[in-house]
Amino acid sequence: MVLDAPRTPLRLADLPEPSSRPGELLLRVSACAVCRTDLHIVDGELTRPKLPLVLGHQIVGEVVGDGRRVGIPWLGWTDGECRYCRAGLENLCERVQFTGYDRDGGYAEYAVADERYCFGVPQSYSDLHAAPLLCAGLIGYRALRFTGDVERVGLYGFGSSAHIVAQVARHQGRRVFAFTRDGDDDGQEFARSLGVEWAGGSSGPPPEELDAAIIFAPVGELVPLALRAVRKAGVVVCAGIHMSDIPTFPYDLLWGERVVRSVANLTRRDGEELLSLAPKVPVRTEVEAFALEDANAALERLREGQIRGTAVLDCHSNG
Ligand SMILES: [Zn+2]
Ligand SMILES: [Zn+2]
Repeated sequence: MVLDAPRTPLRLADLPEPSSRPGELLLRVSACAVCRTDLHIVDGELTRPKLPLVLGHQIVGEVVGDGRRVGIPWLGWTDGECRYCRAGLENLCERVQFTGYDRDGGYAEYAVADERYCFGVPQSYSDLHAAPLLCAGLIGYRALRFTGDVERVGLYGFGSSAHIVAQVARHQGRRVFAFTRDGDDDGQEFARSLGVEWAGGSSGPPPEELDAAIIFAPVGELVPLALRAVRKAGVVVCAGIHMSDIPTFPYDLLWGERVVRSVANLTRRDGEELLSLAPKVPVRTEVEAFALEDANAALERLREGQIRGTAVLDCHSNG
């Protein structure tokens, strides 16, 4: 499924099988989860994709040749030598290449990846259920780490990432509060079914003060709302790659050493930690499967907020 230009539907195309260079793996793609970032690329909100482009950066596939099962994340390549790489911040590398943005991704039957950025996939997960761990899980895990060692965590936007992070946070003994669009009873019920102790609309206050909040929804208006919900010295983590403008707000909301920060991309360490933790929790991913050629429908359902958990493309459904 090929993106030719922003703001156009993906096109079903028959492409030659990609070839791998030394150090790269050729994969037969089994499953690729759909991320909100894919929607931001299609919508032109991320402005520098390779074109034409195969989207998709939560890929589970089998290595052609030896049959190993591996996962490919958003971080596709780094130079290993810039000041960020040397400081352990390869997620901020100055020459970074992202899967499904700078390099072709997994909305396809075959994909190629740099072997150094591939992960082993925990055995207890099917291909479809493992795929959401590779971005929704990893970015969510990094965001959760940035809240510090606190008890009461609010999650704004209960989609693909939050439904995984809620389970990890509960496993760590934290209390989780979920905020959905106002009136989204199904979303709130889904959150409670995963051990969240309170779920409600994002315009209202939580039942008690929070220690930290993570914003997954790409909605700038949530930043002042989340600041209002956290205690002094509380942190508000913005986990998305794109967000609408943040409205002005009184300095009072930031006062008291409250912090607003973003989370960008992932490091391989985030991936290794989350993928070894997930089966111990165990994190159960809720997925809605789509055939590869229905990728446009999957993106539209995500846009409309109609996906419970994660949309995943079944890339070899016809064998
Ligand atoms: Zn670098
Ligand atoms: Zn993603």
